[in-house]
Amino acid sequence: MLQDKCAVFGIFGAKKAAEFTYFGLYSLQHRGQESAGIVASNKGAINVHRGMGEVSAVFASEESLKKLKGDFAVGHTRYSTTGSSTMSNVQPLYTHFLNQSLAISHNGNITNAYALKRQLEGSGAIFQTTSDSEIILHLIARSRAKTMRKKIAASLRRVQGAYSLVFLTNDGIIAARDPRGFRPLALGKRGRSWVVASETCAFDIIGAKYVRDIDPGEVLEINANGLYTESIQHLKNNSYCIFEYVYFSRPDSKIFGQNVDKIRRRFGRQLATEHPADADFVISVPDSSNTAALGFSEGSGLRLEIGLIRNHYIGRTFIDPEQKIRDLDVKIKFNPVKGVLKGKKVVVVDDSIVRGTTSRKLVKLLRDAGAKEVHMRISSPPIISPCFYGIDMPTRRELIGSQLSVEQIRRRLGADSLGYLSLNGMLSVTSIPNDDFCAACFSGKYPTPIENNRDKLKLG
Ligand code: AMP
Repeated sequence: MLQDKCAVFGIFGAKKAAEFTYFGLYSLQHRGQESAGIVASNKGAINVHRGMGEVSAVFASEESLKKLKGDFAVGHTRYSTTGSSTMSNVQPLYTHFLNQSLAISHNGNITNAYALKRQLEGSGAIFQTTSDSEIILHLIARSRAKTMRKKIAASLRRVQGAYSLVFLTNDGIIAARDPRGFRPLALGKRGRSWVVASETCAFDIIGAKYVRDIDPGEVLEINANGLYTESIQHLKNNSYCIFEYVYFSRPDSKIFGQNVDKIRRRFGRQLATEHPADADFVISVPDSSNTAALGFSEGSGLRLEIGLIRNHYIGRTFIDPEQKIRDLDVKIKFNPVKGVLKGKKVVVVDDSIVRGTTSRKLVKLLRDAGAKEVHMRISSPPIISPCFYGIDMPTRRELIGSQLSVEQIRRRLGADSLGYLSLNGMLSVTSIPNDDFCAACFSGKYPTPIENNRDKLKLG
């Protein structure tokens, strides 16, 4: 199944729009490293460059950017599970119909994709990709609404699930966010140009200012005449993804109107209140838990030490199965600082436990480095249910939190103690009403119906 934990970016009204998009994608690289692409529009002519790999690899030659002339552009970085990493699925996807050019960048997952795809194929649609984003293009091409903005809004009324989208049309760009607002999407301004991005860290890199979020259920068109809004649907409550605050977004971004750094620190402080530890100091699992570990240190009064060093240059490391070096994967990523850890009682803060593999190997790594006690603290609750809204997660059976109790997990990890942040504790420190979050991965309560035909749909 295709899981799109991705980033989208769009810019209108900027000379060399593709260059800004390239830098924007650079700062959104953490949301997906499998592929990247940019589509730019130059006086009606569309130019495209897409490829597999990180942004720096896809746009390694100067030529690749130079050919993307024009003053508006959209871009995408994509993460998918290995099997679905094919060139045909690389975004932005683009098409032409009735003298219209249309490109789409999508972050999220459609939860009624099977039903929609079956209907469309039944009436003659031929799909070129296995990406659920293509369904949206087919719906738009078939819409009888008068303008592209209205075609998009009408089509999205039939789509369920999570989508933060940026389209490139003949006249400009159009941003859209699902009525529950699962995934983030922000609007920024740079001089006279408008920018749309998954995270505001993409604004900082190009000198743009955050204006507001695209509202849940909003379709926002940006063209030479100005900004125009259309509503898909208005719902009373949002379903903001709490996992964006736990792990996914960068701490220097503003997500759902709040600074991620601030919220993540509060998770750490709350965790220290709920699960104090008798220890010498706190360490993080860099980089994803740095901010939560800082919060834990503030909340507990224990000093923060640097006990693990992360190698940032791993990329796609080939591990020879014949090498048989135990735990090589975690050793390639992290090395313990022995002088810091030897003979010490250590609190390790990590942001989440998915399968439990990383934590188990880390505990062993820290003990081998001489740590006397290892106390694991997790700045989110146990993950018990998979995500169907765009975060890549394994099946329920593989989620250690759905199979074992906290005490059983502690034993499996080999830790001296284990404490998870409670769901109520986590929600209570966000400054956003609890009912406006999706916390399905921690609670099992999904805000939309989930199709049970998902595996029949050969997506990705
Ligand atoms: P695991 O080894 O399966 O328990 O994974 C836990 C580690 O993966 C934690 O250190 C997290 O920072 C990280 N993590 C959490 N969610 C994801 C995700 N969706 N994709 C990649 N890594 C993740």
